[in-house]
Amino acid sequence: MKLTVLGYLGGFPAHHDGTSSYLLTSDHFNLLIDCGSGALLSLENQLNPLELDAVILSHYHADHIADVGVLQYYWQLHEQRPNRAVLPIYGFDHDASHFDQLSWPNSSEGRPYNPNQVLKLGPFDISFLKTQHPVEAYAMRIVERSTDKVLVFTADTRYFSDLVSFSQGADGLMTDTNFAATNNGVMWHMTSTQSGQLARDAQAKQLLLTHLPADQNLTQQILVEAKQAAGDNVKVTLAKSDLIMNF
Ligand SMILES: [Zn+2]
Ligand SMILES: [Zn+2]
Repeated sequence: MKLTVLGYLGGFPAHHDGTSSYLLTSDHFNLLIDCGSGALLSLENQLNPLELDAVILSHYHADHIADVGVLQYYWQLHEQRPNRAVLPIYGFDHDASHFDQLSWPNSSEGRPYNPNQVLKLGPFDISFLKTQHPVEAYAMRIVERSTDKVLVFTADTRYFSDLVSFSQGADGLMTDTNFAATNNGVMWHMTSTQSGQLARDAQAKQLLLTHLPADQNLTQQILVEAKQAAGDNVKVTLAKSDLIMNF
């Protein structure tokens, strides 16, 4: 499977880079994971947005859903698509005020995922883990059925030990790494060191640090610290716009 980073910042876009959004492709199936600020512009660099097969959302914070509305307008205003299909947007439905907005006439249809069940979506089997965040949010373990390759996305979360078994043996692990190691106080995201340790403990092959702060000096510090914590067996990469990783 091929992962393309469309946006990688946490909180707000900066220096022409957008917030959380990733394109995951396998066997001609194009899945958009989160749809943050700037996602639609970045997506247009990769493919015609009408070629999306589905969208899945980890949670409803603005830095993960900011471009859902304009993506819906894009589909609505491009009626030439085959059979006038509508775009399925998967989210949890415990929060009706947000879930209801995933459906838009002649454009998109909100589809609930059950976090307690495996979601079969195109070539992927997706399982979920509720994270520790101020609002309901779900990490995703995405298995490419044809190869058994695994991508784990922590979504937004502070560190908690269940993440280790959930991420076990991942070919790719994408972690919410919003802080340097020295950060303290109440945190709803992981530090560099926590991300590195998680990758090491879960024996992940590759660690992609994402949901990064806008301060690029801090980001370089985060990379150094995460590498140190991850050890020599994990390849550690900083997310950036248009970065492609194959698993
Ligand atoms: Zn976020
Ligand atoms: Zn969040």
